[in-house]
Amino acid sequence: MTTFTGKLLRIDLTDSTWLVEKIPDHYYKQYISARGLAARYLYDELGPRVEPFGPENKLIFSIGVLAGTGLQGFSKWCVTSKSPLTNTVFRSISGGNFGAWMKYAGYDLLIIQGKAPVHSYVYLDTNGVRFCAAGDLLGLDPRNLQERLKQRHGSRTESVCIGLAGEKLVRYAVISSGERTAARGGMGTVMGAKNLKAIAINVPVHKPVPFNKSAFKESVKKQINILKDHPRKKNMHTFGTPYITTIVDTLGVLPVRNFQEGTIQQVEDISGDVFHALKKAKAGCYLCMTRCGGMREVTSGPLRGTQIDGPEYETIYAFGPLLGITDKELIINANAACDYYGIDTISTGVSIAFACELFEKGILTTADTDGLNLSWGNKRSVFSMIQKIGKREGIGRLLGEGVRIAAGNIGKGATSYAIHIKGLEMPGYDPRGIKGYALSMATSNIGGSHMYGRPRAELAGKVDPFTEEGKGTSIAQVQKEQAVEDSLIACTFGNSGLDVAKYSQLLTAATGIDEFSQENNLLKIGERIICLERCFNIREGFGRKDDSLPRRMTTEPLRNAGPSTGQVVKDLDTLLDEYYEALGYTGGGVPTVEKLKDLGIEDLAKGIMMTS
Ligand code: SF4
Repeated sequence: MTTFTGKLLRIDLTDSTWLVEKIPDHYYKQYISARGLAARYLYDELGPRVEPFGPENKLIFSIGVLAGTGLQGFSKWCVTSKSPLTNTVFRSISGGNFGAWMKYAGYDLLIIQGKAPVHSYVYLDTNGVRFCAAGDLLGLDPRNLQERLKQRHGSRTESVCIGLAGEKLVRYAVISSGERTAARGGMGTVMGAKNLKAIAINVPVHKPVPFNKSAFKESVKKQINILKDHPRKKNMHTFGTPYITTIVDTLGVLPVRNFQEGTIQQVEDISGDVFHALKKAKAGCYLCMTRCGGMREVTSGPLRGTQIDGPEYETIYAFGPLLGITDKELIINANAACDYYGIDTISTGVSIAFACELFEKGILTTADTDGLNLSWGNKRSVFSMIQKIGKREGIGRLLGEGVRIAAGNIGKGATSYAIHIKGLEMPGYDPRGIKGYALSMATSNIGGSHMYGRPRAELAGKVDPFTEEGKGTSIAQVQKEQAVEDSLIACTFGNSGLDVAKYSQLLTAATGIDEFSQENNLLKIGERIICLERCFNIREGFGRKDDSLPRRMTTEPLRNAGPSTGQVVKDLDTLLDEYYEALGYTGGGVPTVEKLKDLGIEDLAKGIMMTS
């Protein structure tokens, strides 16, 4: 017995066929599950230079080995593909119920390939897979669409789906499930390009049976006891991520007006306490006692009176300080509008901020913006812009391409104001004031993500955030740890009190696999995963030149940023040298053959030799 299902479901949309395949045991030993396993399949099954919108691209849904067990915070799901924003390998992780439903259906991976000839959705139950027409569901927002699927297939149906923006191929469309979204990297855009509106599952609960039932049961009990009194869990349970806003402002790394400044006046108007007071009900994912979410009411516009699970810190940043705004209601309402169309709140906010700065600098005028006044803080324009992006209309067509492509199309020096890394719009931490984040985001194999390796020691104030020296080694380490967590999937917000040693115990009890019993081996698996992802990107033509930061971060000292005022990333090159050395890569950022051998993935050497 084990908590792996050992199977994947391959769904071919082009010819409406499906196939169940065995997942080789050694893949679990090498990659655990979820992010790692999906990255391996994507590497093996995608040739180089596949067009992200093309039928050759694949969309892989994956879950963790501990999903659907009694463990708390381990039932999220991951989606992996080649991103239309970054052209790199990409993974986005989300919550809700869908991860557990995949486990109960008996699959660790769903591989979606091809392209449906007409708009479709896929329905899966104990009788197998059905391919259903989705013409009548087009244009529906994710919440109403999921409700419709429940009416059609039963109240226990759980689904992943896209909104209008995914259908229209806005490059940063999300995949929604319940009230949660796999938000980053345009995974919903890939789904839209496949003419796939939703995947719905309705199966009975079949809880996986652990290898060592008594040891696993004991571990679950212990985890629940740790969580009950854990201060971080209490904080997340009460406030959720909105409590981060004032901390980030105090550090001077809260991006304001498109990363021009690092603090904002009246930040207390959008604090964790303020959003806590607006909470109407708790919300959270399946099998998670942290329940970090909260339902809040929309106060204006067509969605007025409805409630959403949000906003998270990143949404507060993107529709607040980044646009020069500290209006709590605007942030909630903007969050609701993005959810309705199915677009990433970070990429949407950064794209609007980019346009606002171009407007400030006179590079864009009302003649370019459909008449909208994009002065900082113009709240009415924010909603019009979200609508235009969601519908891919007017200036929204340009901004829906992401800031990198939009800047290239605008010209006139616009690239200087496009805040992205490898094409992915940046999250709510100014890297000039946290040098570990500068390096982690620059080297991230998925572009400007805050979730590829969090510099925890710096964020907790245990290490000087301004020092660059030594960060190469520490960031290599946190990226390995993050790869392990993402391959379990242990929720970053719900894993209070757990570390690699505890993951090792849990995995061993759940699976009986010896290789998981040593912490060092788990970290080696993490290293293998980031190396594999790097090899994918190198095969696509990426290298050291792409491990970079927006020009602003290396040339413009941070302004109005409290303790971080005047900070700039001085020497990214030395940071990169140290990081590459820590991971056994060449100075060009390419894994050496010796390193590939050490990690047991020497079969990847051919792919990177051809291109490096
Ligand atoms: S901590 Fe929050 S995001 Fe994580 S599993 Fe729990 S409810 Fe979901």
